[in-house]
Amino acid sequence: NPTIQLKNVTYIYEDETEPVLEDLSLEIYKGEFVLIVGPSGCGKSTLCQTFNGIIPNVMEGRIGGEIIVEDKDVLQLELKDLSTSMGLVFQDPDAQLCNIYVEDEVAFAPENLKVDPAEIRERIVNCLDKVGMQGFENRKVFELSGGQKQKVGIASVLSMEPSTLVLDNATANLDPQATKDIFDLMQILHKDYGHTIVVVENKIDDIMHLVDRVLVMDEGKIVKEGTPQDILETS
Ligand code: ADP
Ligand code: ADP
Repeated sequence: NPTIQLKNVTYIYEDETEPVLEDLSLEIYKGEFVLIVGPSGCGKSTLCQTFNGIIPNVMEGRIGGEIIVEDKDVLQLELKDLSTSMGLVFQDPDAQLCNIYVEDEVAFAPENLKVDPAEIRERIVNCLDKVGMQGFENRKVFELSGGQKQKVGIASVLSMEPSTLVLDNATANLDPQATKDIFDLMQILHKDYGHTIVVVENKIDDIMHLVDRVLVMDEGKIVKEGTPQDILETS
């Protein structure tokens, strides 16, 4: 089975009349590294928010179709039921990070779900290690560089041990070196740790060669999909 499956999903934000996602279907398989591209405003961020249940759990609006994540029906679940399947990393780490110390940030989600404290200690170490931020437990988040903050953001999502990681323009505010570090990290999480990775990226030329498959969106629909080679040859 696909790890993410959308069937004929249509979504209209509250107080809007036009759908931002329109009869959209897609399948993403376990262990894939998938890139989603398309013009600004075509619905990429909205799509990412359907994967982890922000839509429809947090955002108002009208949704139709079916969203299945790891055999769970997203439209019937609460947000917390999805956090162990799917982690979403946003463009702006400052919007995602809400604790002073790095270790509290990484512990935040599992603490909310009442994970055993000894287990949380272990996850803090493991997750910081995974993102290359070992030893940063007692550092203050606001004193870190943009790239380091984004890595803490990724660690804080990994602390729920999701099989899939979705990164929505996670490098948009980063300089070229920090961007490269995050792309390297995506590859490590994919190859060495076996995470399914879904990324929305504008720096297409830099990431295209790293991914297994590309989905091209336009006006709320997937208009093309294929390997990076397929997409480059036909565009
Ligand atoms: P992308 O990520 O491809 O830039 P988005 O999913 O952010 O696209 O936005 C798709 C469309 O939905 C845009 O027209 C945007 O203005 C609109 N939109 C995004 N968020 C909201 C919201 N909270 N309420 C109403 N419209 C929204
Ligand atoms: P991106 O293109 O990187 O996805 P956007 O600039 O489209 O980012 O959107 C940034 C934020 O603004 C998102 O949280 C989105 O939900 C919100 N947003 C975008 N368009 C609208 C809109 N028309 N009404 C309300 N919120 C919006």
